[in-house]
Amino acid sequence: MKKLLLLVIPVLIFGLYWSRRETVLVVNQRPTTDDKQQVLGEISISTSPAAIIQGEPVLITVNNLGTSTIKSLTVDGKKIPVFIHEGKPSALVGIDLRGKIGSYPIILTLDDGQKIESKLIVGERVITKAPLGIPDELGGNTPEAERELINTLVKEGAVISAVPTSPEKLWDGPFRLPIEPPITITDVYGYSRQTGASSISHKGTDFRAALGTPVYAMNSGMVRLTTNMRNYGNVIVIDHGLGLHTIYMHLSEILTKNGDTVAKGQLIAKSGATGYVLGPHLHLTVRINGISIDPLKFMALLGEG
Ligand SMILES: [Zn+2]
Repeated sequence: MKKLLLLVIPVLIFGLYWSRRETVLVVNQRPTTDDKQQVLGEISISTSPAAIIQGEPVLITVNNLGTSTIKSLTVDGKKIPVFIHEGKPSALVGIDLRGKIGSYPIILTLDDGQKIESKLIVGERVITKAPLGIPDELGGNTPEAERELINTLVKEGAVISAVPTSPEKLWDGPFRLPIEPPITITDVYGYSRQTGASSISHKGTDFRAALGTPVYAMNSGMVRLTTNMRNYGNVIVIDHGLGLHTIYMHLSEILTKNGDTVAKGQLIAKSGATGYVLGPHLHLTVRINGISIDPLKFMALLGEG
């Protein structure tokens, strides 16, 4: 019994000291100006840019979250992954080139049940149309070659759409362009290529790149597909996690392989003229949860200064 008391008393004294110490710590913790704003500001949602058009990405930011925690974030009813960007909970959304025009509700649900609502306004894109022939290697400008082109494009699109993504964010910091300056854009995102009676949307950006130009990973990630396709030529798909993919097409050489972890700026390929092309260039596609958006608008949001 004596032994037990000897053990219990010091524990009690220490406990008393510890609880007083805790109290003192709390009293001394005066909020800084930043903390006050954090406490006083209401939780809100902002989008960057404030409004977009079809085929563009948007960055959603949660402000003044404080000690609250997020249960889910949905845009137009679809749940999207949340990550920390510049210290704030954020999410990336891509609107398809043919996505609906108008208002997309954004709903943030907190773990305490509170809901914060906002909306994203998507305007109509004016699509430029231009003719584009079929190269002789792919059958030339004949109805058969056109049919074959459309059929195989659908199949190749399905292979790329099936590429998985990591539930973790694999990228770190701003994205870089896949080739070194000087940068010349030869074909912009979104225009419609008239091939015979068909129209094919150009869902990426083409960079001028002489045969053999070094191609670099735009950010860290995992290589999820390296293959040769009839139309896309030699292709690399890098998964940056959370539904974000960068895709490099028409390459002459692939210098990485499926399953490789790549660092930002790592040499992954040499550009080329493989597949459905009229000349050497690098085609870049950026996909957000399966939606190919304008890579240059993506760079404006998450790219280097
Ligand atoms: Zn292209």
